[in-house]
Amino acid sequence: MPPASLTFFTRLLAQKGQPLLIAGPCSAETEAQVLATARGLQALGTIDLFRAGIWKPRTRPGSFEGMGAVALPWLQRVKAETGLPTAIEVATPRHVEDALRHGIDVLWIGARTTVNPFAVQELADALAGTGMPVMVKNPVNPDVALWAGALERLERAGSTDLVAIHRGFSTFAPSRYRNAPTWILPIELKTRFPHVPLICDPSHIGGRRDLLLPIAQKALDLDYDGLMIETHPDPDHALSDAEQQVTPARLGEILAELKYRRRSTDNADYNSKAEELRQKMDVADREIVEALARRMALVEELAQYKKANNVKILQLDRWHEIFASRPEWAARVGVDEKFVGELYKLIHLESIRKQTEVLNGRPVDGVAHLGPGL
Ligand code: PEP
Ligand code: MN
Repeated sequence: MPPASLTFFTRLLAQKGQPLLIAGPCSAETEAQVLATARGLQALGTIDLFRAGIWKPRTRPGSFEGMGAVALPWLQRVKAETGLPTAIEVATPRHVEDALRHGIDVLWIGARTTVNPFAVQELADALAGTGMPVMVKNPVNPDVALWAGALERLERAGSTDLVAIHRGFSTFAPSRYRNAPTWILPIELKTRFPHVPLICDPSHIGGRRDLLLPIAQKALDLDYDGLMIETHPDPDHALSDAEQQVTPARLGEILAELKYRRRSTDNADYNSKAEELRQKMDVADREIVEALARRMALVEELAQYKKANNVKILQLDRWHEIFASRPEWAARVGVDEKFVGELYKLIHLESIRKQTEVLNGRPVDGVAHLGPGL
C-alpha cells in the first residue's frame, strides 16, 4: 500500500497502475438518470471516479443550465450505493462551499473558468486548507500559460492534489473536432508540471461518439494518466452534449477496445534494437543540424551580396519556388508533404531573420517570438 500521505490522485494511480477512469453524465438531470448511470459504471468494475455537471456554463442563456444544488444529494446517493467517489464542476466559491457540505470528493474547474484569473484566484482561496483534489481543465483558448497559471494559483494557495484535464481548444478554422486537441500544448504543460497527472477528455475534444476511441487511444499512447468520458443511460435524449455521450455499456466496449501499452519492457531484444535505432537517429539528426548550418551559412553569404547591391530581403518568386519544390521532393522520398511545408516555413523565417540582421546590423526576434501559429 502506498503511504497515506499520498494524495487522492497519486494514491489511485499507484494502486491501479493503469490509467484513471472518470465517467458520468455531462449534466445531472434527474436522480434516476444519475443513479442509472452510476450503477452502469459500477458494473464495469474499472471506473475510479463519477463525474456530473450540476452548474453548467452554457454558451447561450436559455439552454439547460444544470439542476444546481438540488442535485448534490443525488451524488451522495451515488457514493452510498455504488462506493464511487464523486466529482462536480465548480465556478464560484459558493459552489465550493455547497460541494464541501455535501461530501463531494473531487472538484473540477471548467474550461470557461480557467480562462479567468480572477475567478481561478477566488476558487484557489476558497479551496485553501480544504485538502480537496482539484482537476483543472485547459482554457478554451490555446494558451498553455493560462492553464499553467491556474495550476500555479492553486498550488500557491496550498492545493497539492491537482490534475490537469485536456479537453481541447476552440478554433476559428473548420475542424473535424469540436475542440482541436493541439497535442503539443498538453505535452508542454506536462513538461512544466511533471508531478501533475494529465487526463484526456475525448468527449469534449471530439464532440462525437465515433471519435472517442481514436482520441482516447492517442492519449494513452502519449502517456496520459487517465481518461474522462461522458456517459448517459439515454445519450440521444441527454439535456446537454447529447452527440458525444455514450451509455455505460458502450463505454465498457470502448475501454475493452483500447490498447494499453506499457512505458517500457524488460525484453532484451526490444531494448537493444530500440537503442540501435535511436543511435542511428542521433546520427541522422546530427546530419540534419549540419545541413541546416551549411544552409544558413549560404543565407548569410547571400545577405552580404544583397546588402552590397541594395536588394530587398523577401523575394516572392523565391518563396513560391521553395514552397512548391520542397514538399514535392519530400513526397518523392515518402516524407509527408505538409510536414515539410511547415518545416520550410520555419526555415524560411529563420533565413529572413538572419538576412535582416546582416542588412540592418541589429538582432531581431527569432521564430520563437512569433507565437504558436507563427
Ligand atoms: C463538462 O465537462 O461537461 C464541461 C462543461 O466541460 P468544459 O469545461 O471542458 O467545456
Ligand atoms: Mn459536457
